[in-house]
Amino acid sequence: MNKPVSKTEIEKLSPKAEKQTLLWLQSGGCGGCSLSLLCAEGPDLITGFEAAGIEVLWHPSLSLETGAEFTDILHRILSGEQRLDILCLEGSAMCGPNGTGKFHMMAGTGRPMIDWIKDLSSHAKHVVAVGSCAAFGGITAAGDNEVEAVGLSYDGKEPGGLLGSDFRSQSGLPVVNIAGCPTHPNWVLETLMSVAFGSFTEAQMDDLERPRSYTDHLVHHGCPRNEFYEFKASAEQPSDLGCMMEHMGCLGTQARADCNTRLWNGSGSCLRGGYACINCTAPKFEEPGHPFMETPKIAGIPIGLPTDMPKAWFVALASLSKAATPDRLRENATADHIKVPPSGSGASNRGTTREGKKK
Ligand code: SF4
Ligand code: SF4
Repeated sequence: MNKPVSKTEIEKLSPKAEKQTLLWLQSGGCGGCSLSLLCAEGPDLITGFEAAGIEVLWHPSLSLETGAEFTDILHRILSGEQRLDILCLEGSAMCGPNGTGKFHMMAGTGRPMIDWIKDLSSHAKHVVAVGSCAAFGGITAAGDNEVEAVGLSYDGKEPGGLLGSDFRSQSGLPVVNIAGCPTHPNWVLETLMSVAFGSFTEAQMDDLERPRSYTDHLVHHGCPRNEFYEFKASAEQPSDLGCMMEHMGCLGTQARADCNTRLWNGSGSCLRGGYACINCTAPKFEEPGHPFMETPKIAGIPIGLPTDMPKAWFVALASLSKAATPDRLRENATADHIKVPPSGSGASNRGTTREGKKK
């Protein structure tokens, strides 16, 4: 489990002598990634930024400048008067209608937001997409996508997006895609700190340019339902304790993120809150083609099997596991609280169905 970095440890890090300037823009999203970032802890947002020498030029939730004061910052960046080290976009780039970008005009400038994003990206040392909307289009691109939402360098799974797949910022790096919906605050903070310290390299990015610091893991790692998974003791409804893969749509065995080892707000994750993993760090997660909380199957076998596992093996292992499932797990899997403790001493509850009738 990742240990939070203490304030003292952070203070020992030496930021670059020159402040690293950061500009944060929002377009087609819900603002949830900013809201999540404000909850950063170990370190908190302000301590992290100070330790890394990050100077926030402007952020919609942190800055006081508005109107002409804000647009003046943008003009100073474009004129070269103000250096821009890190440009963050939260929310997708909205290109509609018909590629004009006029669905989202930057207030007070008479220009589409996508034009500002393109111009500022060409001046930025690093460009960072915060959240699956900015990375791939995300929720904003769901359905008919009438707003023509795309990510900065991806349109769903396809390389391209607003800036194009060949885009490189002045650092030589592609857009850094901190995908997630929302992003874990420390995925964002540690990536921005690493970028500001000058230690973030292309080798630290995966095949979708996401930071490997969190995508070298699976959501399945550390899930408290692992024991139920091993025996295919499955939940049948949202409040059940069992594994949510077989019936409830859980994609944790395929989703690349460390949500169950780097917990949210100190103690949470979707699985711990009773929600199946919907693989929100992946492109097109918003369009699974079936209800999020249902597992699509063919002949009773889930379609989305664990990463790296041949289907025949899974089927053989699953039937063996089901045959060997201890009563404790079988009964607890479809209960909303522990009915049979590990000691096996919960005899008074044994043999009781969900409806409370004796079998
Ligand atoms: S990625 Fe999710 S949380 Fe972040 S802005 Fe988009 S919809 Fe909101
Ligand atoms: S609920 Fe999902 S993440 Fe948890 S053990 Fe089952 S498959 Fe893995």
